[in-house]
Amino acid sequence: TGCLYLVATPIGNLEDMSVRALRILKEADIIAAEDTRNTKKLCNYFDIATPLISYHEHNLAVGGEKLLAFLREGKTVALVSDAGLPCISDPGADIVEKAIEQNFPVVPVPGPNAAISALIASGLTPQPFFFYGFLNRGKKERRQQLEQLKKRQETILFYEAPHRLKETLKDMEAILGHRRIVLARELTKKFEEFLRGTLAEAVEWSQTEEIRGEFCIVLEGNENAEEENSEEAYWMTMSIIEHVD
Ligand code: SAM
Repeated sequence: TGCLYLVATPIGNLEDMSVRALRILKEADIIAAEDTRNTKKLCNYFDIATPLISYHEHNLAVGGEKLLAFLREGKTVALVSDAGLPCISDPGADIVEKAIEQNFPVVPVPGPNAAISALIASGLTPQPFFFYGFLNRGKKERRQQLEQLKKRQETILFYEAPHRLKETLKDMEAILGHRRIVLARELTKKFEEFLRGTLAEAVEWSQTEEIRGEFCIVLEGNENAEEENSEEAYWMTMSIIEHVD
């Protein structure tokens, strides 16, 4: 019978592809990809010959119907996104819901995820955390969203595009005030780095820097922000730590 696999793919480092994920992609009847050109490169690299079809934001309905038709034919469908986990700020939730409604097994094949990777190395309280994903692109909406997050005590995880980071950090500082922030840049890639500091320092950094690369934002929750803890003094100076595997 048909089965929908949700397969994690690397967020920058091809070595993060799991052995199981490779097997599932090889054995699947069809790979549904957010961007087939992008996934084709991954498949070429790993010698995967499974046919690809596209399933992205702009063809959720039509693409989804095709995938369901494959499942009804008893086929195995492996869904991937451009990077990391499908469904997490990426397409997938729609087809998962429909597959469940129609009683097909939905099987996660875990692996890389940018937000959780940023969280575990951030040094901020790892749980409870609140995953927000992308804030709205419009300034007014973004500010409203931040207002709603103001009282949250959990560590908050965001995704943000590099060209919007500066503005987003400014809005965060204006609305959320004094708290610690960690910017995880280019995770798993050659120039991976963590910028740890206060929101004010992050804003200052973003003014002087030409912002490039992919970023996750890990932001301290409200409760912790109110604690005065001398052991955490080192956070008051922005530090940037790079590494090479
Ligand atoms: N599905 C993905 C996952 O599981 O992590 C997230 C996809 S979302 C469309 C893309 C955003 O994730 C980027 O804008 C960035 O905020 C974050 N991201 C993806 N790869 C990253 C990386 N290597 N380093 C830092 N952030 C990354």
